[in-house]
Amino acid sequence: MVVELISVGTELLLGNIINTNAAYLSEECANLGLSCYYQTVVGDNEERITQTLQLALSRADIVIMGGGLGPTPDDLTKEVAAKVCNKKLFLDEKAKKDIEDYFAKKNVTIPDNNWKQALIPEDSVVLYNANGTAPGVIIEYGTQKVILLPGPPNELKPMFENQVKPYINELMPSIILSKTVKICGIGESAVAKEIDDLIKDQTNPTIATYAKTGEVHLRVTAKADSEVEAKKLIKPMIKDIKERFGNAIYTTDVDTSLEMIIAELLIANELTLATVESCTGGLLAGRIINVPGVSETYKSGYVTYSNKAKRKCVGVKKSSLEKYGAVSEQVAKEMAIGAHDVCKADVVISTTGIAGPDGGTAEKPVGLVYIGCYVCGKTTVKEYHFNGNRAKVRESTVAAALTLLRECLLEYFSENTFGKNKE
Ligand code: ATP
Ligand code: MG
Repeated sequence: MVVELISVGTELLLGNIINTNAAYLSEECANLGLSCYYQTVVGDNEERITQTLQLALSRADIVIMGGGLGPTPDDLTKEVAAKVCNKKLFLDEKAKKDIEDYFAKKNVTIPDNNWKQALIPEDSVVLYNANGTAPGVIIEYGTQKVILLPGPPNELKPMFENQVKPYINELMPSIILSKTVKICGIGESAVAKEIDDLIKDQTNPTIATYAKTGEVHLRVTAKADSEVEAKKLIKPMIKDIKERFGNAIYTTDVDTSLEMIIAELLIANELTLATVESCTGGLLAGRIINVPGVSETYKSGYVTYSNKAKRKCVGVKKSSLEKYGAVSEQVAKEMAIGAHDVCKADVVISTTGIAGPDGGTAEKPVGLVYIGCYVCGKTTVKEYHFNGNRAKVRESTVAAALTLLRECLLEYFSENTFGKNKE
């Protein structure tokens, strides 16, 4: 089944906003097993939107249009789509009520032009919008479908996930099921090499690698007549991957992040955490605080950017700074131990490095980073060399810090169990 994507909005053509909806929808459609051969961006212009939709309908089974469902006169998508598909527009009572409720909650009088958002083309499935005022629409045009979604990503994504996906799945002759394996601490080429044979021999399920900063995700996808059949196909492949990568796999749940796994490990073992950051300047704390409920384990985050702050806040020795420099194994170690001494967290992770673009030397080049990890009395420090600009070095440092933290925790737990067994 062929899908075509149309993104509507002059601001997209001008480059004022990045077309993240197209990236999201392409990936989701591929996961559903749809083939996408064309994507178009078109401005808020009636004639050009009409032509674009007509062309798309000449070559696709499903056309997905994003944007232009708002209340203003330049929001034309629904009106144009209804006209192209020869559908009259009707007032949908539930959509009207949703708009009334939305504005009542905000205690604002409903602007006149918002009522047009409750107009729905005949022969359509209405996609009610829990996150905004514009309902989406699936127009059934003979055997073809024209799916209209609101532009704001926080409205488009849940609408696609919860309402469009199940609708498309029903249309598909077979179902597509995917499982994601998330790996940290191994580079993409090393991962690809390890599964070279699986990639070469792939038929059903298929396997694909996606590189993220500091992580590699493997997606195993099966096509089958039923979900049970698809799961049966996926299971042995996941087992095989688990055997190959062992502990480097931190989850097989697509919605779980590395920081979530770390928070879970810490909370389950009643350990508290602190961060002390130089080159990452709070980015690491930010990733950790992404996790809801992390207050059960996370105590403090220090940003000790200057040498003085390193001394005053976490007690790094002046002599160490002078002898080894702020970017050194010794200082990373003293930062971690020092933060523990100050706030008494059981576990501390520290970062110090040269993010660039300036400040590098032949001995200590841009991208040199030390990460320290203190776990209940034992401190590990590792040296890293990252490529890329300042933002990339900082992002890579955060990913490496989380990976090292997880490694040190797993090592601590295995040693502890061993200790207990000996008693
Ligand atoms: P609204 O009711 O907000 O006007 P709409 O359905 O008419 O919604 P647009 O006016 O096209 O949608 O876009 C609204 C906002 O949604 C844009 O300003 C932009 O922030 C975001 N947006 C729209 N299209 C995209 C896209 N393709 N990718 C990412 N963001 C987008
Ligand atoms: Mg709009």
